[in-house]
Amino acid sequence: MLIIPIFNFILLVLLFFFEKLELISLVILCISNGTLMYFASKIEDQKTKIKKNTADFNVTNSSRAFTSEDLENQLINEIEDYILFINSFNAISAANQAAKNYYGDIIGKDLSSFIRVPDLLDKIEISRNKRINEYLEFDINLPTYSFFRLTVVPLSQKNVLLVVKDYTDVKKAERLRSDFVANVSHELKTPLVSIKGFLETIYSSAKDDPIAQQKFIKIMQEQANKMEILISDLMSLSRIEMQEHVQPNSKVNVNEILESLQKVPNKMAEKKGLDIKIIKNKTTPFVRGNYDKIFEVVQNLYDNAIKYTKDNSVVEIFLKNNEDKLTKGSVSIHVKDQGIGIPKNEIHRVTERFYRTANAKKNLIQGTGLGLAIVKHIINQHRGDLEINSRLNEGSEFIVHLPIYEKKN
Ligand code: ADP
Repeated sequence: MLIIPIFNFILLVLLFFFEKLELISLVILCISNGTLMYFASKIEDQKTKIKKNTADFNVTNSSRAFTSEDLENQLINEIEDYILFINSFNAISAANQAAKNYYGDIIGKDLSSFIRVPDLLDKIEISRNKRINEYLEFDINLPTYSFFRLTVVPLSQKNVLLVVKDYTDVKKAERLRSDFVANVSHELKTPLVSIKGFLETIYSSAKDDPIAQQKFIKIMQEQANKMEILISDLMSLSRIEMQEHVQPNSKVNVNEILESLQKVPNKMAEKKGLDIKIIKNKTTPFVRGNYDKIFEVVQNLYDNAIKYTKDNSVVEIFLKNNEDKLTKGSVSIHVKDQGIGIPKNEIHRVTERFYRTANAKKNLIQGTGLGLAIVKHIINQHRGDLEINSRLNEGSEFIVHLPIYEKKN
């Protein structure tokens, strides 16, 4: 485009030199030619801009140039369920990424070589012939327990699609729930059966024996107390489980909790001749939480320490402040005893509901097995942590870490 005015300009200068053009005409013609050059260069600029925009548009468009097939493949690969395309010979002709990750290199392999479920081939045949979806549930125990639900979907030309869903977590939760119900029923039934038995005796063989009656009534009272403690622990546990996601927000002075514990005399501690050391710490900052709940935690650990420590030994409760730039710091409450201890391989289990160590049962120490489960849930709710250090026959230390209270901005 610029070529024409440039050519015009050269021609005008030549005409002037060969005296074919007057100076004034040369000036006028040069000005009009210059204007022409200016507009020509503008048009040139616009052309380059348009070219660049078109190129940009093509680049962006080419990265979005997704065929519906690409999209479907990506979708299938994103799905967490295992999807397998089975051909008419029951071999795998395709699989999504989740299936490849789980089963490994399976393309071209026979289905029964890696899913060994007795009814599977029958279900596939029914699905093929009747053209309906078929369903199957199965579990495997190795390497770990897993539970699956499988759907067979008929496709064209005797091919079928298998969709395998992993329901292990759901199944485990179901098991936990039913174990829990079984445990509760068992724990409540034992004292109840005992109360019923003694009642019957009082009405029959011990009808005229006031001394035996008094003895049986005392046992019945103990059993009823046991039931009461269990029910109250269960209620505590279910309350705390429901609130676990809401972190309590009050300013709590842990020293006040230690003071309250100090004030109440402990009958069992006296009976066992224990030396109780409850040591407050003036420099301990406030923690974020709920006073009553933190009290429940410390009371539980304190009761356990007294219960599981040896006669004439020492039980200590003390506080430590922990500087931590990441978490803005924490306070730890230490409850230490010199008791029966917990075997190393059982430490991680003692916070499970109803779990009692063989050691505790052997020593005939009474308990529900719910206290530490409650403690753990309350600490979780406070976004804290429970640390357990223990040595068999030497003693245990339970450490509760709680975040300090700092004003939120
Ligand atoms: P329990 O009512 O049986 O004391 P917990 O839930 O409080 O139930 O504790 C669970 C189990 O952890 C106890 O049965 C016991 O085996 C063990 N345990 C708890 N605290 C101590 C401790 N201080 N020393 C030794 N073992 C303990």
